This record gives sequence, structure tokens and C-alpha cells, in this order.
Amino acid sequence: MDNNIRVLIIEDEDKMRELMKIAFKKESFETFEAVDGKQGLTMFKSNPVDIVVLDVMLPEIDGWTVCREIRRNSNVPIILLTARGEEFDKLFGFELGADDYIVKPFSPKELVARIKALLRRADNRNNDTASNLELGDITINRLSREVTIDNQIVNLTNKEYELLYFLATNPKIVFNREQLLLKVWGYEQYGDPRTVDTHIKKLREKLGEHSNYISTIWGVGYKLEVPK
Ligand code: CA
Repeated sequence: MDNNIRVLIIEDEDKMRELMKIAFKKESFETFEAVDGKQGLTMFKSNPVDIVVLDVMLPEIDGWTVCREIRRNSNVPIILLTARGEEFDKLFGFELGADDYIVKPFSPKELVARIKALLRRADNRNNDTASNLELGDITINRLSREVTIDNQIVNLTNKEYELLYFLATNPKIVFNREQLLLKVWGYEQYGDPRTVDTHIKKLREKLGEHSNYISTIWGVGYKLEVPK
């Protein structure tokens, strides 16, 4: 991981931005700041950043919309900031493509740790030398994160991709939902196994005729195997 990590903070509270800026400066992160969703999107489009820290409750354009907009053409890691007691739907956040979330008030140290963890994951993906992973009729390109079946592109969300990728790199192994949450979403405390089921369901739909590559082991979990 290089030291010139560029972080975009999209947060309307001056105090919060200030806190984060101080923490990031200690890490020698380069910080970009936006005070509302609209400015955040503009800044995202004009500055190459490595990670986005995104407040959910924002003036102009809310954090959900910003998240969805960014995901239209970027896989940049996104961490959502949410206030304690705020109505917050984790599932919704992941559906929109967020990679992680943290509840305010949080320690800047923890945020930095999470940022580093996410960047390490992104880094590992980029460092894989062989770009294509072949799986029967399914091809996964690790560099472009493109999935194709018989040369037809399968449009996957960020997490659907990561779930497929994880299962594909560990074929024939049965994982329970908690393990998948931990491996794909990264943190145990997410804890809602429905997230996994929803993503498996979507993934199967998108794999169409090849949905049988992913099997449900009743009472245990899921595995991926190329059918004979
Ligand atoms: Ca806010």
C-alpha cells in the first residue's frame, strides 16, 4: 500500500470533517472534502481518490444517492457514516454497494483501521497476476472485475462480484452465511445472514442457466462447483 492514499470525505458537520482530517493527516493521507452530496459527487468526478468516507444524512443529495451514483462506474471502496439512533438500514447500504459502515461517534483510529483494511482488500485484488479465473463457462477477470458467460457480460454489483469471486476462489467448499459475511463483507458485527441470501439469490438470477454452479447445502450454507 503506498502512502499517498487519497480520501474523499463527504460530510456536512464541520467538526466531524475536522476530526477526520486530523486523523488522516497523521497517516499522511491526502484529504479532499465536500460539505454536501452534490459537492461530493462533483469532487469525486474531478479527483481520483482511493476511498470515500460518506455521511448518510447530507444536504442537497443524501448519502444513499451519492453511493449509488458513485457505484454506477466505480468500485472505489466506500465507508458510510451513520449517527447512533439514526434509522439505518445496513442491507440497503450494501445493496447500494457500500463496503463498510461506522456509527458516530467513532474513534478516528477505528476509522483509519477500517480504511486500511478496505484498501488492503482492494490492493490484494489488484496484485493478482493471472487476470482470468475460468470456472466452467464462467470467466472472471480479476483486473477489470468483469464476469462473462460465453463472452456475454454479466452485470454484477460490487458485492455480488465479491461473493462470486470468493466462492470461485474456494470451489467445492461449503461456507455458512456467517463465514460469508465475514469473508466478503469483512466484519462479524454485520451479523444479518439475510444479506448473504439476498446476494446469492440475485447472483443466481444473473447467472441464469448457470445458476446451478452455486448450490445450497440445506442447514449449512452455500458452495460453488462447476456441475459435471
Ligand atoms: Ca450529516
